[in-house]
Amino acid sequence: MNKFSLEALPFAMNALEPHISEKTLEFHYGKHHQTYVNTLNTLIEGTPFENKSLEEIIKTSDGAIFNNAAQVFNHTFYWNCLTNNHEPTPEGKLKEAIDKTFGSFVAFKEEFTKKSVGLFGSGWCWLVKDNNGNLSIIQKQNAGTPLTDGLTPLLVCDVWEHAYYLDKQNARPKYLESFWELVDWKKVEARF
Ligand code: MN
Repeated sequence: MNKFSLEALPFAMNALEPHISEKTLEFHYGKHHQTYVNTLNTLIEGTPFENKSLEEIIKTSDGAIFNNAAQVFNHTFYWNCLTNNHEPTPEGKLKEAIDKTFGSFVAFKEEFTKKSVGLFGSGWCWLVKDNNGNLSIIQKQNAGTPLTDGLTPLLVCDVWEHAYYLDKQNARPKYLESFWELVDWKKVEARF
């Protein structure tokens, strides 16, 4: 049974060039993300997780099932943070909240970049909102996701090497420069 399937990308495979290449998407989306979906389907077959939603699985599992379910969610979320039709800065209420929390958009970008580049090993850097609407930037190792903390994810950067190695080799700071050229602020504003 294939309960979960790979969600379509919100852009063409070559749409993010030159910042993220089609070759990277062939591997990152076509191989890595697809493998997390396939592995999750295999792992949950014949278990009570078969009848749960992806978010329910993430909140109630651990080990390999958690890792693969969270990686499916995190990657779909990541693709839906990127666009080839990018606006350089957030606007409206999100801009106000960023200014209030971090001092300015430039200061926010600096802190998010520092936490993304500084995350040791593989993981994800998230902009999140708590139940009171307060913003923060959090680092998560491996498949970590803010869903398990009761936080609402707004924006994520995948800092696993497979996200940038083909384009930038080991230069994660260069990948962050490209990431900022692709952020879909309209979607981030809508989540806020
Ligand atoms: Mn990834």
